[in-house]
Amino acid sequence: MNKQTFFYRDTWVDVDLGHIAENVSLIKQQLPEEVAIIAVVKANAYGHGDLQVAQTALAAGASYLAVAFLDEAIALREQGIHAPILVLGATRARDAHVAAAYRVTLTVYQTDWIEEAKYVLEDQEQLAVHLKLDTGMGRIGIRNSEELQQIEHSLKGVGRFNLEGVFTHFSTADGPDEAYFQDQYKKFQELLAVMEHLPPLVHCSNSAAALRYPAVHCNAVRIGIAMYGLAPSPTMKQQMSVSLKEAFSLHSKLVHVKKVAKGEKIGYGATYETQKDEWIGTLPIGYADGWIRKLQGQEVLVKGQRVPIVGRICMDQCMIRLPFEVEVGTPVTLIGCNGGQRISIDEIAGSLDTINYEVPCLIGSRVPRVYTY
Ligand SMILES: *Cc1c(COP(=O)(O)O)cnc(C)c1O
Repeated sequence: MNKQTFFYRDTWVDVDLGHIAENVSLIKQQLPEEVAIIAVVKANAYGHGDLQVAQTALAAGASYLAVAFLDEAIALREQGIHAPILVLGATRARDAHVAAAYRVTLTVYQTDWIEEAKYVLEDQEQLAVHLKLDTGMGRIGIRNSEELQQIEHSLKGVGRFNLEGVFTHFSTADGPDEAYFQDQYKKFQELLAVMEHLPPLVHCSNSAAALRYPAVHCNAVRIGIAMYGLAPSPTMKQQMSVSLKEAFSLHSKLVHVKKVAKGEKIGYGATYETQKDEWIGTLPIGYADGWIRKLQGQEVLVKGQRVPIVGRICMDQCMIRLPFEVEVGTPVTLIGCNGGQRISIDEIAGSLDTINYEVPCLIGSRVPRVYTY
């Protein structure tokens, strides 16, 4: 995924792995010793780079990895990651033998799935599985005790499955609806009580729940967003006692700078008109990189000053209004620190009317990731 180590382009993402390591250690310190950290590295580690984040998180105290799809788990195995990996999403039953061959743990929640998967597993093959319970998210999972007993029975009847874990996922752990969170936790406990044997790993908390409800850790937590230094929600940002460090920053360099006379137009549609003689700079980043057109007007940092993007954002380039003449090659920060000023991921999420999770995921694979420690 991040095989490219050299690039010719003046736009890149800096990923501070030192910050990710610090965040993991800090979260680990907050948890009781017996609680394992499952580092969530799905979606190319939320756009940060799956291999590098996985290695960093494991070295900093995580003992398990989680991804969304089997393909992501295989990609990590192919890059030399030996730690256990849980696929959180659905996997086709007919691909169970692929997961077993790569020693990847699958999420299971349907008896039919077990019945189909057992025929594709080889005689001596063992597949590790976690049962997913749907306690109120309404996404995937076992929803009642009858289904749970049936699937537990079905798993036991077939020697090829190693029931290693059971988990659920909260839908409001980061928000104001505490009652709904408590309902889900209660339902989880009720369902666990129905099981004949509790598997070794019981987990329910994402970052928000792990940081906010220390009493419900079970014996593992699934940490995504907090590892990347971001608060799970604006509400939590104000309440959090731990100070996490953002790892992701986005940079470019001016590739063209010119003085434009008053009354001239900039960009597609000629939507921007200079108000006076202005210095206009061009950046080699555009909507095909995930720096989408909605960010027209968003500020960027040049020599520690905030300056606006003017005119429409093109596919591969955009223009900014400079306060004075600046040399071609001057670094420009779109996310992160520059000359004592800072543009946070949360600020960009605000400009896009979305959540911080979406921002680093949005910055495409065409933008190289550069790793610092
Ligand atoms: C993505 C995901 C997580 C991680 O959530 P964060 O809010 O990023 O900590 C945990 N569990 C499941 C099931 C997920 O899909």
